[in-house]
Amino acid sequence: MTPQQRQELKQHIHTELRHLSEELHATEETSSPTVTPDNAIGRISRVEAMQARHIGDASARARKERIVRLEQALKDVDDEDYGLCVACEEPIPLARLRLIPEATLCVACAASLES
Ligand SMILES: [Zn+2]
Repeated sequence: MTPQQRQELKQHIHTELRHLSEELHATEETSSPTVTPDNAIGRISRVEAMQARHIGDASARARKERIVRLEQALKDVDDEDYGLCVACEEPIPLARLRLIPEATLCVACAASLES
């Protein structure tokens, strides 16, 4: 991987992190409906409100986990080993790293682990 490519991926990770934290902020503001006896018998039932909050929590958690992985990738991107598959040690294609900068497995190894 060339220094330019590492630089490009770093920019990419920064952009992803910014998007994720913006989205996280947006969901945190909307995913906590206050359920009072008044609106529980109104248009939105208590159960619906709780389900909405639950879905919000799940996606917020997924985003937080991705943020952790991306921050790790940001630290690793200057390492010699970054971009090498941890299983077969072949270079992970740059197209895959652009899509998933935190990827530590090449497509073939990721697929064989999943099956
Ligand atoms: Zn591999």
